[in-house]
Amino acid sequence: MNSTISISSTAQQYLDLEEKYGAHNYHPLPVVLNRGEGVFLYDVDGKRYYDFLSGYSAVNQGHCHPKIIASLVEQAQKLTLTSRAFHSNLLGEYEKYITEYFGYEKVLPMNTGVEAVETAIKLCRKWAYEVKGIAAGQAKIIVCDGNFHGRTINVISFSSDPTATKNFGPFVSGYESIPHNDLPALEKALQDENVAAFLFEPIQGEAGVVVPDAGYYTGVRNLCHEYHVLMVADEIQSGLARTGKMLACDHEKVRPDILMLGKALSGGVLPVSAVLCDDEIMMTIKPGEHGSTYGGNPLACAVAITALQVLKDENMAANAAAMGNLLRTELKKLNSPYISIVRGMGLLNAIVIKHPNPDAAWELCLLLKENGLLAKPTHGDKIRFAPPLVINKEQVMECVGIIDTSLKQLV
Ligand code: PLP
Repeated sequence: MNSTISISSTAQQYLDLEEKYGAHNYHPLPVVLNRGEGVFLYDVDGKRYYDFLSGYSAVNQGHCHPKIIASLVEQAQKLTLTSRAFHSNLLGEYEKYITEYFGYEKVLPMNTGVEAVETAIKLCRKWAYEVKGIAAGQAKIIVCDGNFHGRTINVISFSSDPTATKNFGPFVSGYESIPHNDLPALEKALQDENVAAFLFEPIQGEAGVVVPDAGYYTGVRNLCHEYHVLMVADEIQSGLARTGKMLACDHEKVRPDILMLGKALSGGVLPVSAVLCDDEIMMTIKPGEHGSTYGGNPLACAVAITALQVLKDENMAANAAAMGNLLRTELKKLNSPYISIVRGMGLLNAIVIKHPNPDAAWELCLLLKENGLLAKPTHGDKIRFAPPLVINKEQVMECVGIIDTSLKQLV
């Protein structure tokens, strides 16, 4: 670890507790946070940081957005959970709100992102057998190399990342992986008449913010129509104003057949995810065939309505577009020998580090932390820059200054 990194004895106590009692399934930066507000996080010693991860894009609306927190507190005092054994006064209201917001006939509410993905996959298979007429047990789903859709056994079954899969087999079958951003490869895969769906991230976030060529979403849409295959967009990270539009697919005015949302659907307050599609697909699932104890709970419904409302009321998509352009332009101007690529859309961005030290991206994140900005490497040499969407111009410029200083300190 970089010798310049300071950890207070207070912070060290918290690190020691996690080290001793928690599973070691993450490798966090050595910073212990206890407060968040807007674009800022504060550590246990009172130091302030710009948050350039936003809880992996869950905190698009900014930390502890007052309106979202007010909805949380108000609803928490009335009713938090009924389970789906009974109705609540908020579920229908939320379902109407979110389906009208995104223009789909139905929604199926879940909690975490990966549960939304599992739900979408179940819907694809049901639709394949009951609507498209694929022979029992033969349905196939096309996915992309480098995908990240979550951590369940089924979802890692189609991961191409050895860290995600090693010693977790046996895996679930029924998937074929093709290169990302490759329409000819998709068309070739669609020749198989047992293909039910194409599941993809419009921007591969975890892979290092890999943005496909212009026209890709339109091409996917057209091919899926032509081959009667469902276009299934995982917008759990790219959606909800993050890329400068409400959905990444909106950049090409393309409507997926199945849309998955999560993360910022609650503004970082509690796990809320959703699958949206039309009746032809959604109504294939009957009572008892799928569900979740917490899915669609009244607390989640109240929070999600407000989280969606503030995205629109505060023009967060437009701000993400403008601040993203500014951030990328200013980062490119730095002309750092250690940055080989600056890429992204809206406020979902990444830099690729070029440095003889293979740990340079981690070292840079430690320096950024010392200088007051929190970011995390992904896949070794990439660092995601994805602040809350409420960041303003002065703040972007201050962050570029912090990045510049840190790059100059990198040895
Ligand atoms: N899909 C995408 C595109 C993601 O980025 C993630 C999480 O990073 C997930 C699914 C899984 O979400 P969760 O961690 O809430 O299960």
